[in-house]
Amino acid sequence: PPLYQQRYQFVKSYVDTYKPKKVADLGCSECALLHTLRFWDCIEVLVGLDIDEDVLRRKMHTLTPLAAHYLEPSKTSLTVNLYQGSVTQKDPALLGFDLITCIELIEHLKADDLADFREVLFGFMAPFTVIISTPNAEFNILLPKCTGFRHPDHKFEWNRREFQSWATEVAECFNYRVEFTGVGEPLQDSKNVGFCSQIAVFTRNYTESEESLKRKMEYKSVYKTQFIPKE
Ligand code: SAM
Repeated sequence: PPLYQQRYQFVKSYVDTYKPKKVADLGCSECALLHTLRFWDCIEVLVGLDIDEDVLRRKMHTLTPLAAHYLEPSKTSLTVNLYQGSVTQKDPALLGFDLITCIELIEHLKADDLADFREVLFGFMAPFTVIISTPNAEFNILLPKCTGFRHPDHKFEWNRREFQSWATEVAECFNYRVEFTGVGEPLQDSKNVGFCSQIAVFTRNYTESEESLKRKMEYKSVYKTQFIPKE
């Protein structure tokens, strides 16, 4: 399967195993991951956030509730919310999540924004699990026609050591543990370059207190709600 599907498959396997109820996708773009996650019964709340309103609106009609969501009332109902906003902004809409995914997002952030994002995601949103994927620069030598970055909007592409040292520091700073893996394996006889997309899975080591959550709930909303059209 194409690489983007392998990344989604990774998230879907996580959802299968750990059954998160509240899931958000940051930098959700055309909502393709959210679209597939609608089929998971364990999920009660699905949220997408992207800075680019046009890209969000392009396919958001594909998120309207499925007929099955009405026909089988025994199923837990699903709420889907889409927001236009930046991952550098704090908004109570993203508090209390079990899983937040950031698939091929961080390499689009400038250094200042990456620093803010880290604080917003791990300090403010503080979900139980975070899944971050980003290109592994070491793999680029195997990509035909890839000179420089894989995409002109990338602000950086990290090798394994760079990504792992960033993620390890974040985990230590915000009291998470982190494990590394990836998707897109090189052919057997090629050098040890690692996965095409590298992935970090962070898990929170502590339980957030009611008071802390309540304090954050009082932050002013800044994201702009996108109303998903009804069919
Ligand atoms: N996650 C999607 C996927 O796997 O198909 C697409 C990722 S796309 C390469 C990166 C997305 O991040 C774009 O849709 C872009 O608009 C969004 N983005 C970039 N900077 C952002 C920011 N500061 N806040 C929220 N989204 C941002």
